Amino acid sequence: EKVINVIGGGLAGVETAWRAANEGSKVRLFEMRPEKTTPAHRTDKLAELVCSNTLGGKEITTPRGLLKAEMELLNSLVVEAAKKTAVPAGGALAVDREKFADYITEKIETHPNIEVIRQEVTQLPEEGITVVATGPLTSDTFSRFLREYLGEEELHFYDAISPIVYADTIDYTKCFWGSRYGKGGDDYLNCPMTKEEYEKFYNALMEAEKVPLKEFEKACYFEGCMPIEEMAERGKETLLFGPLKPVGLIDPRTGKQPHAVVQLRKENREGTLLNLVGFQTKLKYPEQKRVFRLIPGLENAEFARYGSIHRNTFINSPKLLLPTLQLKKNPKVLFAGQITGVEGYPESAATGIVAGLNASRIANNKEPVVPPRETMIGGLLRYITEADPKRFQPMNANFGLLPPPERRIKGKLERRKYLANRALEVMRRWLKELS
Ligand code: FAD
Repeated sequence: EKVINVIGGGLAGVETAWRAANEGSKVRLFEMRPEKTTPAHRTDKLAELVCSNTLGGKEITTPRGLLKAEMELLNSLVVEAAKKTAVPAGGALAVDREKFADYITEKIETHPNIEVIRQEVTQLPEEGITVVATGPLTSDTFSRFLREYLGEEELHFYDAISPIVYADTIDYTKCFWGSRYGKGGDDYLNCPMTKEEYEKFYNALMEAEKVPLKEFEKACYFEGCMPIEEMAERGKETLLFGPLKPVGLIDPRTGKQPHAVVQLRKENREGTLLNLVGFQTKLKYPEQKRVFRLIPGLENAEFARYGSIHRNTFINSPKLLLPTLQLKKNPKVLFAGQITGVEGYPESAATGIVAGLNASRIANNKEPVVPPRETMIGGLLRYITEADPKRFQPMNANFGLLPPPERRIKGKLERRKYLANRALEVMRRWLKELS
């Protein structure tokens, strides 16, 4: 009988263990706390929430609401615990973090198929199937091991994320497609600014409220993830030689080079998501919305992902992983959680379920599986394994990851309702076929 090793008892690891154990597999779950801890964890509990206590929206018309509905269909332990320990928070599912972690710890520790081992893992176990779920703050020794095992360049320690907007919320009459000096075709959408527009944007950026970096995050700037507001502080002109550089870009409507240009690049194959190039930022989310909507064409833009800069250990999944979460070079090793380049509590947990299911299937000589593309989980798994490996950055749940509706649907809410119902229907059908 093949044992399944799960490394890390966080949001992803507990889901992996739960799923694999419920499939009948024997699981060894390794958690280094309390023997050794991370800079963010405070307790010895499994599935400790390190920061906010919310798992996102409840409605299936919100990205995380849909994700959680799909997870429920997959018998998620995290969603079960969250519902049992919920506290009032309007449209969001927020929890009492102590009770939430206690509930999960107790379920895992008393499961007859799971053995919890409180020990730091420093290299891959030789025996059995292994799921790596050590999270954004993977221990240093194991990080070093992974770097050596996967390749120096393939494990990152920080993310520097620029915002992504939904392509269908842009005013295209104010922008134009094209690359600098006409090289590279229509890869970029250019939002030109006059001197006045630039100054207004610059002033708003300088005054906007920022999230302070945590002590353990400060080394980030040495890794070259300078936030846009930090760059702006060096002088009014600095951005014009950086991310807002206009050279080589001629606005076809005026025949001239604009004073400044913000460039957006397609983030996925479908072109439903556009990334603001070079806009990694520590601005607070509402401030990002306010300031970046001053960019011509983005006045009504909706954000699929906000910018951020974090300490975050994650691997280059598009290069290293299959959508089943198996390592290409060793299919008996799987990855789950934030370390795969998904971002957020429910996202991390969701990948854990898939890893648990697949680890168990592999142990039983069955083909590993991937949830369909139309589901939020399927969309996330495709994104992290199909994105451009040269500029891979973590991704949270959002509707741009799903194939657009087959027919035109008017209104954002109607469109989301359609996508959410389609996702759940496809997921139900898929689960039926699986069993
Ligand atoms: P974790 O939940 O961190 O679990 C990993 C586990 O592995 C930990 O228990 C750790 O102790 C253990 N471990 C690490 N190395 C080893 C080893 N070598 N051997 C054995 N055990 C090991 N997401 C949100 O949605 N909302 C937020 O507010 C939020 N805030 C965050 C704040 C910070 C500071 C960070 C770093 C991340 C935050 N995230 C947030 C992002 C992320 O979704 C969470 O960190 C989430 O917990 C990730 O789940 P995970 O299972 O991948 O990792």
